Amino acid sequence: TTMQIAFIGLGNMGAPMATNLAKAGHTVTGFDTAGTTAEGVTNAATAEDAVKTADVVITMLPNGAILRSVAAQVIPAMKPGATLIDCSTVDVESARAAAEMATAAGLQFVDGPVSGGTVGAINGTLTFMAGGSDAAFATAKPLFDIMGQKAVHCGEAGAGQAAKICNNMILGVTMIATCEAFALADKLGLDRQKMFDVVSTSSGYSWSMNAYCPAPGIGPQSPADNDYKPGFAAELMLKDLRLSQQAAEAADADTPMGQAAAALYEQFVEAENGKGMDFSAMLPRFEKRGRG
Ligand code: NAD
Repeated sequence: TTMQIAFIGLGNMGAPMATNLAKAGHTVTGFDTAGTTAEGVTNAATAEDAVKTADVVITMLPNGAILRSVAAQVIPAMKPGATLIDCSTVDVESARAAAEMATAAGLQFVDGPVSGGTVGAINGTLTFMAGGSDAAFATAKPLFDIMGQKAVHCGEAGAGQAAKICNNMILGVTMIATCEAFALADKLGLDRQKMFDVVSTSSGYSWSMNAYCPAPGIGPQSPADNDYKPGFAAELMLKDLRLSQQAAEAADADTPMGQAAAALYEQFVEAENGKGMDFSAMLPRFEKRGRG
């Protein structure tokens, strides 16, 4: 059935996601404070205008503070019984705060952060990790299936964000481990292709090594083969690692590797020209360094 959808936040991710919903036959009204547009989407003058007749409102915003302010703005304007789906990557507490605002107003809420990047958003191959009630997830699922290829219902509100930051904490840590191991292998005189052949089929294998190898010319095509242009930018990895550290602090979880990864990406992005580079550019970073 055709739905009325409002899409708030038509950035690098939101615009192609909104276009895919329109292409599938839904009526999509968009709003972005920067005035950006998306193919097939009619822009509204204000966020309130965009949401007032919508069955589903989707947000794709930079961070938790902006999500909280947009939620406070649009929830009072939404139709009774409508569903708010936030696909941004935000802190677990902001997701839960938005969920509370929505349910207090008689609305359904789903946090549904994604992995798959802009390529996944354009091609409709994102993975969604969702939190919310069964009913809310059931409303969101057909839309997730248009924008993506997989949607996992992880639990109650906030569980989607929890899954996202745990996954990306593992990713940040394994990417650093893979890069420092390549740099060590170089210094030991070990050929990078041999290193890949062994590790990719041994117990050191991971997505970072096997699917996104940080060494140029080795393994499948990856940003390393394109001068480390993102891909997944180092500053976005830093954002996610900060969210996992924030969550670990709030939940009193001991995450020393996540902490080390956050510190390294912070140094890389803020002091070593890593901004604008793919997160796998940790390899040339380690390559240039010694222990001192
Ligand atoms: P982006 O900066 O391109 O888009 C965010 C958009 O939100 C911008 O167009 C901005 O103008 C708009 N916006 C800001 N404040 C607003 C407001 N108050 N009302 C309406 N619109 C507002 O960012 P993006 O790359 O599209 O990422 C969006 C989210 O998805 C982030 O949370 C990011 O962490 C997450 N994410 C991004 C990627 C990626 O590869 N880009 C991958 C997975 C998840």
